Amino acid sequence: MVNEQPAELLVVGAGPAGLTAALAARSLGIDVTLIEADPQDRERAGSRALFVHHETLNRLQRLSPGLGDKIAGFGITWEYARTFYGDREVYSRRYTSSPGVGLPPYASLRQLDTERFLRDACQGAGVRAVWDAAVEEVRSGPEDVTVRTRDGREWTSDYLIAADGARSTVRTRMGIEMDGDRSDDYRIAVDLADDPANHGSAECVMYYRHPALDGRNVLVVPFAGGIQADVQCRGREDSERLSTPEAVRRWIPQVVPAGYRDRVLWIARYPCLQRVATSFVDRHRRVLLTGEAAHLFAPLGARGMNSAMADAESASTAVGVALRAAGSERARAAVEEFDRLRRQAAHHNRARVERAVRHLRADSPVQRLRQAGAARLAPLLPGAGAWLHRAPYGPRGSVTVTTGLY
Ligand SMILES: Cc1cc2nc3c(=O)[nH]c(=O)nc-3n(C[C@H](O)[C@H](O)[C@H](O)COP(=O)(O)OP(=O)(O)OC[C@H]3O[C@@H](n4cnc5c(N)ncnc54)[C@H](O)[C@@H]3O)c2cc1C
Repeated sequence: MVNEQPAELLVVGAGPAGLTAALAARSLGIDVTLIEADPQDRERAGSRALFVHHETLNRLQRLSPGLGDKIAGFGITWEYARTFYGDREVYSRRYTSSPGVGLPPYASLRQLDTERFLRDACQGAGVRAVWDAAVEEVRSGPEDVTVRTRDGREWTSDYLIAADGARSTVRTRMGIEMDGDRSDDYRIAVDLADDPANHGSAECVMYYRHPALDGRNVLVVPFAGGIQADVQCRGREDSERLSTPEAVRRWIPQVVPAGYRDRVLWIARYPCLQRVATSFVDRHRRVLLTGEAAHLFAPLGARGMNSAMADAESASTAVGVALRAAGSERARAAVEEFDRLRRQAAHHNRARVERAVRHLRADSPVQRLRQAGAARLAPLLPGAGAWLHRAPYGPRGSVTVTTGLY
């Protein structure tokens, strides 16, 4: 066994949550080591989280001056948003970009690009990163926390932020359960590379009951370098059938221009999970869970990655307060306040995503009638079309949620 240099803070996992936590910690002058299972030169597959909210851009700009600008400069915003119900357009809006003061309302880019900017910022901020080191064991006690990686190395620190994703080893080792459901909603996301022959405008298009896809709902989202088509399937078997490369080649030309058929970059099939950890901290108040280690949301409303980054800043702030606290009771209180606020935010976010999922499933005849009625009224009542446009993302509202200290 090899004992590595101790740190005030260990962060496990270099996804959006871990990178943001490490950056936030450095902005507070905390000595931090980031441990990641994958090698440094890994290329994560697929677009995953595309939409970076304005509040996240602001957060990153604050943690590392210029970072929000870089992400916004690389990402795109769309020129049109359209919504169709069956074969009729029920909503359309053109966005004019005003040459700008401040950060844009959002940026659309692949998660791996966002992570690249975050990694560069971490490097510049002096984060010590250890790659190719999967954490296998975690021991927390009243004074500190120790992790052991697969290759037998050990690190000890005052605090640990777990950002090791949905199958979090840290959460499991701490014996913390996840609470909530897996719906039988499965979705398929298909990334398509930009088609140079198709110089159309960047349009975000929601299709309710797409006629060429046997009435399934489809969302088409442009991002820097391509577009993503996301289909709501009818259960697991339906998603298995529709997600083979041959099936994708058959249905893709029904929802985007035919030239994209040969430009498939990535196909992902995933269940919509809505789960929140029963506690975001261990019993010794030395380990803080963030991002998908702490909660899983369906992608509607882009609350997964964006709230992961809010958790991350909050966790590092709490660690900063705890490290400087006069006495162990105050230190514990800072960590417990993180737990209270971020769990509250996760429940708030989950409730909003659930509203969006229920809207799109439209299981009850009343919901279906309401949506069909809104589609009929849309040409006369623009508010009805605007409702159909907005509802798939859930009620608006911050992903950060808290108005408290963290
Ligand atoms: C198909 C798909 C589509 C999605 N679409 C959206 C979307 O549109 N909007 C949205 O907001 N979110 C979306 N998400 C979710 C988004 O990708 C996650 O919310 C985000 O990645 C969470 O970040 P994280 O840092 O918590 O976890 P992750 O990104 O999973 O990062 C965890 C990191 O920890 C590392 N790790 C794991 N175990 C260990 C270990 N034992 N030791 C050391 N390191 C470890 C992993 O290698 C990884 O680097 C999507 C996800 C998928 C899969």
